[in-house]
Amino acid sequence: MPKLLEGKKGLVLGIANKRSIAWSVATSAAREGAEILFTYQGERLEQNAKELAATLPGSRIFACDITREDQVDAVMDHLEKTWGGLDFLVHCIAYAKSEDLEGSYVKTKKDGFETALGISAYSLTLLSRKALPLMEKRGGGSIVTLTYLGGDRVTPGYNVMGVAKAALQASVKYLAYDLGPKNIRVNAVSAGPINTLAARGISGFTEIMKYVREKAPIRRNTEPEEVGDATIFLCSHLSRGITGEVIFVDNGFNILGC
Ligand code: NAD
Repeated sequence: MPKLLEGKKGLVLGIANKRSIAWSVATSAAREGAEILFTYQGERLEQNAKELAATLPGSRIFACDITREDQVDAVMDHLEKTWGGLDFLVHCIAYAKSEDLEGSYVKTKKDGFETALGISAYSLTLLSRKALPLMEKRGGGSIVTLTYLGGDRVTPGYNVMGVAKAALQASVKYLAYDLGPKNIRVNAVSAGPINTLAARGISGFTEIMKYVREKAPIRRNTEPEEVGDATIFLCSHLSRGITGEVIFVDNGFNILGC
């Protein structure tokens, strides 16, 4: 049986360490035959990225701080030179200042709001625009981002990141509308809570994990591999009729009313 992503080239952004959802996406995609270039934020994470890349045959790494448009351009130039195009892009980037991830949302300052929305939401629009010429060269493509239930409903402590995820999810729909005629699909995976570096910054995260484990229809926490597999489904031909959607991979927790 042919592999799901045989011959495809993919860009996966946001690997910090082996717990990162981006790493699960990269390993699922490589297992299904894709060639991957994954990005890390900067020097601090370079060693981690190198060690992980060494375990994934054929993968490449590149530094990219999403607040630096010149670095995004450098990634796209590199892809143009090495692959001459791009089939899929997976955006796994989010950040908010630690003081904005505790207490009440109402105290969020303009600077913290702009930081969280810029890095966690606007970056998807920037990347989609920059990747567009590369995907057009392939006759289309798939873009996937990662979101959380806190973008739909209030999750105490998630605060400005919930507002950023709401903006991200709205961006998915507008981008899907803009890029659909070019045969480029844009979707989001809404993952249940997973113990990663970013998640540990959210106050009360351990309690959220426990609550979800006890209440979700499938009574366990989400595994990063489940998110990786759902994401590559969205990158593959199997999901060719799906765009502008948010797909929950959370053991059903989001269907609950209380
Ligand atoms: P993670 O900490 O492993 O990944 C977050 C990544 O964002 C890191 O690699 C970090 O370097 C990167 N990043 C932050 N600022 C950046 C910048 N300026 N430029 C480039 N990269 C930057 O955590 P994760 O949980 O794997 O997060 C990946 C995505 O999944 C995020 O969008 C997160 O909101 C989302 N998500 C996570 C969970 C969870 O419970 N872990 C649940 C739902 C959605």
